[in-house]
Amino acid sequence: ARRALTRLRDLPAETRDGTRIRLQANIELPAEVGAVLECGAEGIGLLRSEFLYMNRDDLPSEEEQYQVLRGLIERLDGRVLTVRTFDAGGDKLAPALGLSIGPNPALGLRAIRVGLARPALLETQLAAILRAAVHGPVRILVPMIATVEELRATRRMLRAAAARLINAGIALPDPLPPLGAMIEVPGAALAADALAGEADFFAIGTNDLIQYTLAIDRSDEAVAALFNPLHPAVLRLIQFSADAAAKARIPLCVCGEMAGDPRYTALLLGLGIRDLSMSTLNLPMVKQRVRSLEAAGADALAAAVMSEADSSRISALVDTETETPD
Ligand code: PEP
Ligand code: MG
Repeated sequence: ARRALTRLRDLPAETRDGTRIRLQANIELPAEVGAVLECGAEGIGLLRSEFLYMNRDDLPSEEEQYQVLRGLIERLDGRVLTVRTFDAGGDKLAPALGLSIGPNPALGLRAIRVGLARPALLETQLAAILRAAVHGPVRILVPMIATVEELRATRRMLRAAAARLINAGIALPDPLPPLGAMIEVPGAALAADALAGEADFFAIGTNDLIQYTLAIDRSDEAVAALFNPLHPAVLRLIQFSADAAAKARIPLCVCGEMAGDPRYTALLLGLGIRDLSMSTLNLPMVKQRVRSLEAAGADALAAAVMSEADSSRISALVDTETETPD
């Protein structure tokens, strides 16, 4: 099995009719970088940076964050690193960041909302990322964007951080790294055409997008069966976002769990998505799936699925396609 995996690692993620798909890795800890290289990921499509703030009482300095990111970038040896700014989620990082937990953490002060409410925290992280970006290709991803103004405010902060560093005589990449928006709030997906004018790239986070679209707590076992990536509302939001990105000619990646499940690969390809980021454990399976597909068949599947509004019929269509023998 190990030999088969190694062989697969060196094969391209390409459909049978020659469409190249970019498969990247999601990681939560720098120690996973070995697995990233091992599974053949083209880069890191999502670094969840919350680890920097966990299990400690103080805050990580700019220098500490810079050193951690630089180490990771050097290990990646030219592969791109997409750093997501901290996604403090209500209860998750609240103690470390000195935030009080509101009545509904999922709808409260979370992610970029924390960063804009506590600008010194975000500015420190952005400065660390900028400094690290001289060591290899880096992209900056902003979680939980709901409005165009939030992305604009983040970009202003990024520019201000760059100006501060340049004044201090620190070398920075020119141009600055791309700044992208997570599409994981339904309102952001519905406003994707406007956001595409402000963002350098999109990353669709299906975990939160499904949670907020269907009003299903992603961690609540009692409603886990209702957490359905194939709900037509979810698929329409993905399609609208992908179309907006294509129209604005900005890159788009899908990085929620949905991207790492081979059941959905054909559908996502058929929706025009060419860039998937997932846990390193799932990447070989998804690559195998990509290599068994024809892009033309994926397009036909997506067309059939998107003309259907009934979840169970969509589910049947997707599974029929998956079961088609090679
Ligand atoms: C998502 O919401 O789909 C996502 C990728 O981010 P996280 O799971 O870290 O919220
Ligand atoms: Mg999310």
